Amino acid sequence: MEEFDYVIVGAGAAGCVLANRLSASGKHSVAILEAGGKDNNIFIKIPAGFNKTVYNPKLNWGYETAPGPYIDNRKIPFPRGRVIGGSGSINGHLYVRGQSADYDMWAQLGCRGWSWDDVLPYFKRAETRGNGGGDPSVRGNNGPLSIEDQRDPHDLSEAYMATNEALGLRRTPDYNSGNQEGTFLYQQMMRGGRRWSPADAYLRPALSRPNLKLIQRALAEAIVFEGKRAVGIRYTQEGSAPITIRARRDVILSGGAINTPQLLQISGVGDPEWLSGIGVDVVHALPGVGKNLRDHYAVRVSALVKGVGSLNERSRGVRLAMEVLRYAFTRKGLLTASPSHAGGYMKTREGLDTPDMQLYFAPASYPTGRYGVTELDTQPGMTLGCSQLRPESKGWLKALSADPRAKPEIQPNYLQDQMDRDALLAAMKYMRQLLQTRPLADYVIAENFPGPAVQTDDEWMAHARATGSTTYHPIGSCKMGIDPMAVVDPASMKVIGLEGLRVADASCMPTMVSGNTYAATNMIAEKAADLIAA
Ligand SMILES: Cc1cc2nc3c(=O)[nH]c(=O)nc-3n(C[C@H](O)[C@H](O)[C@H](O)COP(=O)(O)OP(=O)(O)OC[C@H]3O[C@@H](n4cnc5c(N)ncnc54)[C@H](O)[C@@H]3O)c2cc1C
Repeated sequence: MEEFDYVIVGAGAAGCVLANRLSASGKHSVAILEAGGKDNNIFIKIPAGFNKTVYNPKLNWGYETAPGPYIDNRKIPFPRGRVIGGSGSINGHLYVRGQSADYDMWAQLGCRGWSWDDVLPYFKRAETRGNGGGDPSVRGNNGPLSIEDQRDPHDLSEAYMATNEALGLRRTPDYNSGNQEGTFLYQQMMRGGRRWSPADAYLRPALSRPNLKLIQRALAEAIVFEGKRAVGIRYTQEGSAPITIRARRDVILSGGAINTPQLLQISGVGDPEWLSGIGVDVVHALPGVGKNLRDHYAVRVSALVKGVGSLNERSRGVRLAMEVLRYAFTRKGLLTASPSHAGGYMKTREGLDTPDMQLYFAPASYPTGRYGVTELDTQPGMTLGCSQLRPESKGWLKALSADPRAKPEIQPNYLQDQMDRDALLAAMKYMRQLLQTRPLADYVIAENFPGPAVQTDDEWMAHARATGSTTYHPIGSCKMGIDPMAVVDPASMKVIGLEGLRVADASCMPTMVSGNTYAATNMIAEKAADLIAA
C-alpha cells in the first residue's frame, strides 16, 4: 500500500496550490488524486476556448441544479471541471479578489486570521501582474499566478465604461485593490495571451519533484477512518478494483464546493439524518456539511448594434480563420477574449457602504440572449449582465446515494431572499438605462433581450426567474467558522472533531466574496498550505 505524508483529493484551483506548496521544502511526500485526466485539450489553452470546454462532458462533472422553487422550478446546467486544473481549466479566467470588507466579515464571524490584512499577503504571494501594473502595496509581482490586462480592448467596452461614468460610476484604476467600486476592464488569468490555469501556475512546475506524485483518473470514493482519525483515501482508477492510499499526516479535501461535501457525506461525516437516508453509518455527526451553499445568479440584457463590429461576426467563416492567424502570430484578438470584457461594481441603493452588484459586459451576444447557449449570434450584438455580489439566498448540497458516482442534489435556492430579488431588479433596470444613455446608446439598434415587452417590476422579475443562470461560483458548503454549523476550523483547516482530515477549497468560504471565486480559492489554498505545514 502506498503511503505519503499528505494525500490531496482534487487537482483543481486549490489542490494544485497545495501540491506545490506542501512539496516545496522536500521534507514531505505528497500525493494528489484527480478524477479527471490531462489538460491537453487545445480549447483549455486558448482563452476564448471557454465556449468549447464549459459543457464538454470529457472535462466536466456535468451537474445540474435541482428545480429552483424561486426560478420557475427550472433546473440549470452546473458545470464543474473534471480535469487537471479542475474548474480552473474551464473557467472564464476573470481575476477578481472581492472587497476588503468580505474578509473582514469572515473575521467578524469568528474566522480569526482571515481579515483583509491577514489574507492580503497571500493574494500578493500568489500573483504576478504580467502586462499590468497596480499599486505594489496591494498587488504582487513575483508569484506563480499570471494576471494580465486585456490585450485587445473593444470599442464597445470603452463605450460601456464611458456610459457607466456618465451615469455616475467612476472608472477605477484597479478593482482588485480591496476597494472595487467603479467601472473597468476585467483582468484575466493569462500569460502571454494563453490561459494560465492552476496546473500551469502551480502543479506542472512542481511535478519534477521526487516527493510529489500525481495520480490521474483516480476517483476518491471514500475517506478511510480509524476511529475519528482519517488515515487515507480509497479510490478507483478507470474502473479498477478499489485502491487504498495512506496519509501519515493528513488527508486534504480539495474537491470543490460540490464534491468535497459529497465525499464527506458518503464517508460518514455530516448530518446524521441525511446520512441515515442514504444508508451511510455515521463516523462523525457534523450537521453543517453541505449546508450554506451559495452561488451568484446572473441575468442578461442584450442589444443589436450598429456602427461598430462585434465579436459575433468574427466568430465564424473567413473572419474566424483570420482571427486564428492573428492569435498565432500576435496573441491578440478574438481568441484572447474572456466571456466578459468590461464590468462594474455598483451600489443598487442608498445607504450601502460598499457595492452590492457586479456588472458584466461583452461586445458579443447569443441568439436567444440566454445562458447555456455557446454559439454567438449571426448579427452584431452586445450583452450586459449583472449578479448580486453577496446573495442571502442559501441552499444545500446533498448526496442522494452512497455511490460515489451518483450525482448529488444541488439546490442553490436562487432568488429565495427578498433582498436578492430587490438588488437584481434595480440592476436589470440600470442595464436598460445604460443601453439608453450615450455613448453606448449611439450603437444600439434595439434591445432584443428581453425587449420592450418587459416594462413593469413584475415583468422584470419574470425575466430574471425565467432566464437567469449560475455564474459558476458555488461556495460555503463546508464553511469555516466557530458556530454549530461550521465544518472547518479556521485556525487549522481541520474538519471539526476529526483528526488527520482537512479541507481547503471553495467550500470553506463562510460567506460569498464580492465577485468571481477563483482568486479567493487560490488565496485560501495559499494560506491553508502555511497552516497545514505549521
Ligand atoms: C464554467 C466556469 C466558469 C468560471 N469562471 C470563473 C471566472 O471567470 N473567474 C473566477 O474567479 N472564477 C470562475 N469560476 C469559479 C472558479 O473556477 C472556482 O471557484 C474554483 O475553480 C474553485 O476551486 P476549487 O479548488 O474549490 O474546485 P475546482 O477548481 O473545481 O477543483 C476541484 C477538483 O477536484 C477534483 N475532484 C472532485 N472530486 C474528486 C474525487 N472524488 N476524486 C478525485 N478528484 C476529485 C475535480 O475533478 C477538480 O479537478 C468558474 C467556474 C466554472 C465551472
